[in-house]
This record gives sequence, structure tokens and C-alpha cells, in this order.
Amino acid sequence: MNMMVEKAKLYVVATPIGNLQDITLRALDVLKQVDVIFAEDTRVTKKLLQQYAIAPPLLYSCHEHNEAGRSSQIVELLSQGKSIALVSDAGTPLISDPGFYLIQSVKENGFSVETVPGACALIAALSIAGLPTDAFSFYGFLPAKPKAKKDKLQLIMHVAHTCIFYESTHRILATLKLISELLPQRKVVVAKELTKQHEQVFEGWACEILAQFEKEPLLCKGEFVILLEGVKAPKLETSETNDDRLLQVLLRHLPIKQAVQIAVEITNGKKNALYKKALAQQNR
Ligand code: SAM
Repeated sequence: MNMMVEKAKLYVVATPIGNLQDITLRALDVLKQVDVIFAEDTRVTKKLLQQYAIAPPLLYSCHEHNEAGRSSQIVELLSQGKSIALVSDAGTPLISDPGFYLIQSVKENGFSVETVPGACALIAALSIAGLPTDAFSFYGFLPAKPKAKKDKLQLIMHVAHTCIFYESTHRILATLKLISELLPQRKVVVAKELTKQHEQVFEGWACEILAQFEKEPLLCKGEFVILLEGVKAPKLETSETNDDRLLQVLLRHLPIKQAVQIAVEITNGKKNALYKKALAQQNR
């Protein structure tokens, strides 16, 4: 069913992250019907429009270097009642892509924004990584400078849920090296070129994946999502609670002296300490 776009509305439209077929019917309808499309790179968007035989309406650029100026232009167009679509080169606009300033300013000026959802590399990667999905954090791109990148990873390494970030061809090797230094025994998933011809997913410890990439430098070419398993929560049962539980059971059947003696033999613990614990339990 074809929808009609509304006047004076900004549509934030997700586009494919590789495979051009990964676009929704609604996205195509919106791109066909809006008065103006603002695109991160008009050349990339033209290719997509051509693929679907959409004659471009007015097509302008909106990228990180001109977003402020474009925002006032877009607000002006909205006030003239125009319908507008915002797209990025790939995936969902604003997700490690420009548009945040624009959306803020459109909302501040009282116009409505509607999402036309679709592909997003981090969600695509998470859905096949085999890591917990009940909670996760997304960090975008890690800082480029080695010191800042290390500082950030040192924070991330203490997070208990799945952590996700984007990485580029030029930095993938350095990032894998850093992860293998800082987190030698953490499960890592590297999702490469998702939905494209050379899609690959690497899983294991960072040093194993790093070794593969060093052996085959061509693997570094492409777009990557890196996912880290969260740090494992410490076991709830400490030896303290084990001791208490053991004494509790022994005291149910034996006099205190015997219970403590057996607990010492089983746990190799200190007799005095276990005796105190046993006394405390008896006095409860
Ligand atoms: N807005 C996009 C989204 O919704 O995922 C992300 C844009 S960001 C500028 C580009 C980064 O996303 C790439 O450097 C890579 O880390 C990741 N990415 C995009 N497409 C990808 C793909 N097909 N496979 C793996 N990672 C991808």
C-alpha cells in the first residue's frame, strides 16, 4: 500500500548497509514522494535512487561540515510546508552519522520528525554475534589517538554487558592488537562487510582474530563492527558463604567441636576462624 508523505515533516530514512535490496517498501515510498532529500553524499544516494528508478526530487548534501547551515535551510523549507527526507550513506542516519544537530533544531522549531527504520550495522552484527543481547552498549568509533583509545578500552573492559563499536580499514589491526593486550581472554566478534559479497564473521579471542588478520592483510579491507563480551560477573558464592553453608549443615547433625573439625578437614581453613563462625551460627 502506498503511503502519502505529510507536508512540513522530516523523515529520517534508513538505507542499506551494503546489499541494496535491504531497503523497506516504506523507505522507497517516502523517497519517491518527498519534496527534497538531504543526503550525506549525494553521489551515493543517487546510485540508490537509480537502482529503484526513483527520479531524484531536489537532492542536496547534508554532512558533518555543512549540517549547521543546512539545518536552517531545512527549517525554512519545513515552514514552507515541504516534506523532507534525511538519508546517510548507509544504514540509519545519526548512528555514527550526521543529523543530531539537525533533528534538535527541527524539533526546537516545532516541526515533527518521523522515523523510517531499517538497516543498522550494529544491530545487524549483534543479531548474529552469539553474544548476550539483553543489554548492550554502543560506543560508535573508538578514538583515533592511541592513548585516548586505550583509555576508552580500559573503561569498556569493566562493563558487564556486550559492548559494540565501529571500526575502519585503517585502524582494525591496531584496535585488535590493543584488545588482545588488554583483554587477552575475552570473547570477541568481528563482523565484516555485513550483507555484502565478502561478509565474514570472526569469533574467538582477540589474539586469534589478530593472527588471522596479520596472516592475511587483505582481511583488513572493509567495514567492521567489533563486539566484546561483557566481563563475567563474579561468582555469587564466595568461600565465606561456602564455609557458612557447610557449618550450617554440619551443626544440624553434630556437636560444635566435631562440626568444626570436619569443616577444617574439608575446607583446609583456619580452625579458630571456623570455630568463631560456628559459634555465631549457634547463637543466631
Ligand atoms: N549509520 C550507519 C549504521 O546505521 O550502521 C553507520 C555509519 S558509520 C559512518 C560507518 C561504520 O559502520 C563503518 O565504518 C563500520 O564500522 C560500520 N558499518 C557500516 N556498514 C557495515 C557493514 N556492511 N558491515 C560491517 N560494518 C559496517
